[in-house]
Amino acid sequence: MPELPEIEAHAERLTAELGGRTLERFTALSFTALKTFSPPAEAAVGEALIDVGRRGKYLMVRFESVWFVVHLMQGGRLRPDEKQAKKPQGGLARWVFADGSALLLTEAGKEKRAGVWVIPAGSDLATTEPFVGLGPDADGLDLAGLRTVLTGHSMRIHGLLRDQRIIAGVGRRLANEICHRAKLSPFANATKLTDDETERLWTAMGACIAESLASERSRADMSSSKERPGSVHHREGDPCPVCGDVVRAAEYNRYTVNYCATCQTGGKVLADNTTSKFLK
Ligand SMILES: [Zn+2]
Repeated sequence: MPELPEIEAHAERLTAELGGRTLERFTALSFTALKTFSPPAEAAVGEALIDVGRRGKYLMVRFESVWFVVHLMQGGRLRPDEKQAKKPQGGLARWVFADGSALLLTEAGKEKRAGVWVIPAGSDLATTEPFVGLGPDADGLDLAGLRTVLTGHSMRIHGLLRDQRIIAGVGRRLANEICHRAKLSPFANATKLTDDETERLWTAMGACIAESLASERSRADMSSSKERPGSVHHREGDPCPVCGDVVRAAEYNRYTVNYCATCQTGGKVLADNTTSKFLK
């Protein structure tokens, strides 16, 4: 799933490409695409696209009177639509501009979970769906902010990092990479980190986001998951680029966590959570 850096760079790309264009019409191409009834999408017709913004893993296509909030989930893509086919594959919604260009939301796969919410422009996101309950953006947290977040949640840091209600924008890949860079066990309890460990986690979070953002900004379109930079995510069996030990995987709550035992756990191999349940 695209995370904060991918979404952020994509928002910048769409703004550069389509900003200023006047909306001629908005069409929901699937019954499940539009998640709201009011305000109507038509409110934006005749208005210029101000920009495409981001909050957490959501994109916001902003016009003067309404904002279209888009969540891509796993397989969704929001791209300029050159073909403008009548029935585009996986098509969910389309914005057509007065100059003939268009923006298309598609979603690959059977599981249709991506969608569009229309909210009044300038809405307080803290009290507007789908943002209610979303944690602070990972790139906006200072060290003190992260410390507050950690002390408030007695849970494993890997799970904390990717819980959108606690910190917004981080998913599995960044959580793996941040823990590795911080040289912390993904299973370390958030409330038990020392000041030094908290600072390492914060520094690693900033560095991993900055690195991914730079990589993403150098591209013409959003990367696929395999193209994203990293040391451990989806690299089970490869040598750790820091120490040469093998990158390992542990199953935890349906998630595969990748880590380096030498760098992160003092050599300890993490118990496979799913397996140990059966062994008990
Ligand atoms: Zn290592």
